[in-house]
Amino acid sequence: MPSTDQSRTSQVAGVPPLLLHICCAPCATYPVQTLRQRGFSLTGYWHNVERVSLPVVWEPGYDLLGFLGAVAGREGRPERCEQCYRLRLERTAACAARHAFERFSTTLLVSPYQDQALIRAAGEEAANRHGVEFYFEDFRRGWAERGRLTREYGLYRQQYCGCLYSEFERYAGRAIAEAATLSHEDR
Ligand code: SF4
Repeated sequence: MPSTDQSRTSQVAGVPPLLLHICCAPCATYPVQTLRQRGFSLTGYWHNVERVSLPVVWEPGYDLLGFLGAVAGREGRPERCEQCYRLRLERTAACAARHAFERFSTTLLVSPYQDQALIRAAGEEAANRHGVEFYFEDFRRGWAERGRLTREYGLYRQQYCGCLYSEFERYAGRAIAEAATLSHEDR
């Protein structure tokens, strides 16, 4: 995987470059396919997600404490997610500006489980702060195609969005039910 300084390998003369924040490989499938059809030259932006077949600006590490601090007192949805969008898109916009990309976008826009209005607002605010453009497109029309491509590529499909809260929300009910069953069987 290329380092940050080696990342702009996808730039082709006359083809508009776009830095694409990637939340995970399955959600990258349809937006990558669509943005390429639109004529963009893509570079992925990755800092806490899986690998995809793109030139990638890779920032290792996950700022867990920064995330927990940002969502403290706002742990419910969509308030927690709004903070999450802001953190991720701020880093993406800063990276776009640092590497002279004129625009950036995010694969979060493919998910019907995410709040597109909040993503768009966070993206545009971050873009304004860094003097770049946020490319918005409603990729949710490709949700079924995302599923098909994910199966075709054999990609791992995580059963929760990504943070500790989403993992707890996904599995807590099941864990409690299993604990109750074990407790009942012990009697
Ligand atoms: S990882 Fe997903 S569920 Fe968790 S805060 Fe971010 S957008 Fe929301």
